[in-house]
Amino acid sequence: MLDTLRRTIQEVNRAPDLARALSIIVTRVKQAMVVDVCSVYLVDNERRQYVLMATDGYNRDALGAVRLDFGRGLVGEVARRAESLNLDNAADHPAYVFTSEIGEEPFHGFLGVPIIQHRNVLGVLVVRQRERRCFAEQEETFLFTLAAQLAGAISHAGASGDIDRLLQDSRESRYALKGVSGTPGAAVGHACVVYPLANLEAIPDRAVEDVDAEIAGFHAAVAGVERDMRMMSARMVDTLPVEDIALFDALILMLRSENLVDGTIEGIRAGNWAPGALRNTIAEHVTAFEDMEDPYLRERASDVRDLGRRILERLQSVSPVARSFPPDTILVGEEVSASQLAEVPVRQLKGVVSARGSSASHVAILARALGIPAVMGIDDLPVARLDGQEMVIDGYQSRLFVRPSAAIRQEFQRLQQEEAELTDELQALIELPSETVDGQHLPLYANTGLLTDITPSLRCGAEGVGLYRTEIPFLVRDRFPGEEEQRRTYRQVLEAFAPAPVTVRTLDIGGDKMLPYFPVEEDNPFLGWRGIRIALDHPEIFLSQVRAILRADVGLNNLQLLLPMISGVREIDSALGLIRRAYEELLEEGEELAYPKIGVMIEVPSAVYQVAEMAKRVDFFSIGTNDLTQYLLAVDRNNAQVAELFDALHPAVLRAIRQVVDSAHTVDRPVSVCGEMAGDPAAALLLLGMGVDSLSMSSASLLRVKWAVRSFRMTEVRALLEEAWVFEEAGAVRALLHRTLEDAGLGGLVRAGR
Ligand code: PEP
Ligand code: MG
Repeated sequence: MLDTLRRTIQEVNRAPDLARALSIIVTRVKQAMVVDVCSVYLVDNERRQYVLMATDGYNRDALGAVRLDFGRGLVGEVARRAESLNLDNAADHPAYVFTSEIGEEPFHGFLGVPIIQHRNVLGVLVVRQRERRCFAEQEETFLFTLAAQLAGAISHAGASGDIDRLLQDSRESRYALKGVSGTPGAAVGHACVVYPLANLEAIPDRAVEDVDAEIAGFHAAVAGVERDMRMMSARMVDTLPVEDIALFDALILMLRSENLVDGTIEGIRAGNWAPGALRNTIAEHVTAFEDMEDPYLRERASDVRDLGRRILERLQSVSPVARSFPPDTILVGEEVSASQLAEVPVRQLKGVVSARGSSASHVAILARALGIPAVMGIDDLPVARLDGQEMVIDGYQSRLFVRPSAAIRQEFQRLQQEEAELTDELQALIELPSETVDGQHLPLYANTGLLTDITPSLRCGAEGVGLYRTEIPFLVRDRFPGEEEQRRTYRQVLEAFAPAPVTVRTLDIGGDKMLPYFPVEEDNPFLGWRGIRIALDHPEIFLSQVRAILRADVGLNNLQLLLPMISGVREIDSALGLIRRAYEELLEEGEELAYPKIGVMIEVPSAVYQVAEMAKRVDFFSIGTNDLTQYLLAVDRNNAQVAELFDALHPAVLRAIRQVVDSAHTVDRPVSVCGEMAGDPAAALLLLGMGVDSLSMSSASLLRVKWAVRSFRMTEVRALLEEAWVFEEAGAVRALLHRTLEDAGLGGLVRAGR
């Protein structure tokens, strides 16, 4: 049985489409279990029916024609209860309904198991026997295992349109594909699938005729690609800041690297033609990166592959086709690269969808900088079949709808429209103070990371920067930036906001933020070498960053320093020791410095309980609700599988935040919240009710939160907090908050949250 199971699963995985996969299942199951019939019914949610989609044993004319209404018959019973049903005589069961089209009469034995994905019943897998037969437990689990295997194939087929075609339904689909992460926003547009330009893997070895001419041709190809990269970089210059453009410089450096160029030339000298030699060098590099299994190094591997294809294209003297992009381009690919993104004129680019990658991928970083919604990490995205298809991106929830139904399209167009109108209307609030109706001031700060964030943050009326994530400039480079280079970057942010405060967080790498040039391999990176832990183990990196930050503040004095991932006081003491050392060194060097206020992030549960001890050492606290939620609820913030469980409104998270605020206020220390929760207007009301001293969020959320703050009195938000306090789960809290916003005429703010 185990062997059959393994072989069937392999066959199903290799099947080119869903119809084939289903047909393999029914045939193999019928053989393996020695039954008279095996069938698969799929759910047609539109018509609320179960449809016979594959069978071995029944009349094949019945396929697609036998449709059982929801809740009817034994199939309906299995689906309704989401449990298997094992009957030696089907007709004895009260739910049994005779179906004439398939000539069911003579069948007695029945075993049906539900096909379930993410708690949704997608269909039912059924076997029938003419005689009475009670199936053994082992047979039941065999069917279960296959059903679980089918579930994945079915849910992906739903998104690619396979199911719709099988159901002979309209061309519209209502299935959503779920990604791991992305960048917020909604987009409606048409897919433009980008694919590798030339197939390097398919290049054969070939004897070289004229070595010198081959080498010259190779040099010319490399020079041509370099020109292309410079053109792309120049095209982005007006859109992206210098530090993001550095990404293209990194690619050019890689292109010129000795390994790549000399390795290929060596191969040519050894007798292979340029494309064959290039294929070998590129393959070596790609394998080296991929073998390390580090997400950031894999990112580099795709850069190498991309460069290899571009050189090959030049070698093959296929002049690069200037592709035309639709005005509403949604860039789709197996692994969309930053350079592919740069090829699309910015005004025409509406969204990005990539089967691989995460929000930390270069392409996602660029998309965020451009304010374009993206969905990353959609497993088994049927890329090859998406070109030209209409799609809707829901960047808020990392979802993609392919061939959206009219209702979904309209819903998202309305959303886009409403968002745009609301954004326009809210401009009127820019100059107005962030205070409640009864005059309680709640400073709203901006979260930044890219220089591109500065202008929008200033324009939306942020009262300063509550969180400057310094790791982002580190991510788009090829090596650690030097002290002076860092100083210049930090200076731009500090200067732009002076005299308003700018809270600069020291390097918070590790977890899912891995530097390509500083690989860390761990089984459990979120519980591993992260944030301050790396900084303290590498004082040279930390000291050079702190020196750069302190020097950037000379003459401005609006700097506040923030330490990430603190889990105990020893880390604070060590970090303070290093900061003091950097400060004194700089004084000795003649810099005229002010010693900044220093705070810690509360994002590890242990820190929640040590606020009093920490307060003896630092000046303020900033709650990082993204990590605090992840660690309190044991839910990986990047895992789509458990994304439903990630909720900052979980009562346990709310209690933790309130405890931090109360403990900090007892010892006179202010508390800010800088996780995504702060940018959700509904959640912001609760935080205000708890007495949080300031909020920091992305500039896109700021005026929305300000609108909420300006619409209530302190007595009202305190009452709201007490009302929410008794709820036992996040859904109830959210429902109350949304009701409150709607009753106050602020329904437009509901979407900005989850
Ligand atoms: C947080 O964890 O809430 C936070 C603000 O930090 P980051 O999202 O950068 O981990
Ligand atoms: Mg964090």
